Amino acid sequence: MDSYKHILLAVDFFEQNDVVINRANDLAKRHQAKLSIIHVVDSLPITDAGYGTDIPFNLDLTAELMAAARKRLAELGKKLAVSEDSQWLEMGSPKTEIIRIATENKVDLCVIGSHGRHGLALLLGSTANSILHHAPCDVLAVRLQDN
Ligand code: AMP
Repeated sequence: MDSYKHILLAVDFFEQNDVVINRANDLAKRHQAKLSIIHVVDSLPITDAGYGTDIPFNLDLTAELMAAARKRLAELGKKLAVSEDSQWLEMGSPKTEIIRIATENKVDLCVIGSHGRHGLALLLGSTANSILHHAPCDVLAVRLQDN
C-alpha cells in the first residue's frame, strides 16, 4: 500500500475530538505525511421570519466567532506542530469547505469523526456522510461512541 502524503484533519471542537485528533496525528507520523487541519465556522442562516423585519447582520458576532475559532485552531496547530499555512479556518458549509480544501490541496486522506454536533442521533453524522460520498480521496471516519 502506498503511503499517504497529505492528511487533512477536520475538527469541530466537539466532544471526543481528541480521539479523532490523536488518530490523525498518529497516521501522519506513521506515513510521514504532511498534516493539515481545518475548522469551518458554520455560516448562520440569516432569517427574519417571525422575528420582525429588521435584524441587522451582526458582523461583530461573526468576527468574534472567527477569532475564537482561530485561537482554538492555532492552539491545536501548535500542539500538533502544524504550521500556520496548513491551518485552514473557513466560513460556510462544513462539508463543502472541507471537500474544497481537500481537493485544492491534493489531500489523499481526510480524517473525520463518525459524528459530531450534527450527528448524535445517527450512526454517521450528516457532515461525515457527505464527505464520505463526495471527497476526492480516502476518508477515515473515526468511530465515536454515543454517550
Ligand atoms: P457531523 O457529521 O456534523 O456529526 O460531524 C462529523 C465530523 O465531521 C466531525 O467529527 C468532524 O470531524 C467533521 N466536522 C463537522 N463539522 C465540522 C466543522 N464545522 N469544521 C470541521 N470539521 C467538522
